[in-house]
Amino acid sequence: MPKLLITIDGPAGAGKTTVSRELAERLAYRYVDTGALYRGVAHTARVRGVAPEDDAALGRMLAGLRIEFARGRAGPRILVDGEDITERLRSPEVSMLASTVSARPVVRAFLLKVQQELGREKAVVFEGRDMGTVVFPEADLKFFLSASEATRAQRRYAELRTRGGADLEEVARDLHRRDAQDRTRALAPLTPAADAVCIDSSELTVAQVVEQMLRHVNAKLAARPGSP
Ligand code: C5P
Repeated sequence: MPKLLITIDGPAGAGKTTVSRELAERLAYRYVDTGALYRGVAHTARVRGVAPEDDAALGRMLAGLRIEFARGRAGPRILVDGEDITERLRSPEVSMLASTVSARPVVRAFLLKVQQELGREKAVVFEGRDMGTVVFPEADLKFFLSASEATRAQRRYAELRTRGGADLEEVARDLHRRDAQDRTRALAPLTPAADAVCIDSSELTVAQVVEQMLRHVNAKLAARPGSP
């Protein structure tokens, strides 16, 4: 069977991670969470005392930095210079800092190479913000997953609550700020690719979104030369 490179972009809280993992599992494809790479860079800058707007210092930090995924029992792990930092990446502080460093050209150029290297083999689902527009403009199938701001805030709140205290208003405010920052940055802003399939997940379950995506995957596979 031909193998596809599939991209899923969209704002925070739209359900991209859950849906991407599920879709990859159903297809027996690899799943790559590119947000984790930006979070990894943000976390590293934080612990090394590098200011997120200081391009020269970020450049020095990134030179020779090894950032990679490893297979873990409960899903992918992210390693920076060999250290597993997966558990430190989901806090609201790292989320916001990831959005701030992701606007820096030196960071995007560094991670562009890392991501394109990861996409050399197909049969993969890439989740992010600019997968279909910048990193893989030639992807076989592109999705843009969104949801209303209220729905996204609720989902993120529910996720954060399982890990301890969270305040819905604060979560909503952070999400709004991060999205505004991601949509308006000069480089690789969050926006659907012209040829992306747009899905609004506000009123849909995870299973319904995945089923919709699978229909597009099957149509794409059926249309490829060499298909029966
Ligand atoms: O997807 P996640 O919420 O983990 O992403 C964290 C941040 O990393 C986003 O708010 C965005 O600023 C940045 N990001 C990006 N490009 C990607 C993936 C994530 O700019 N492809």
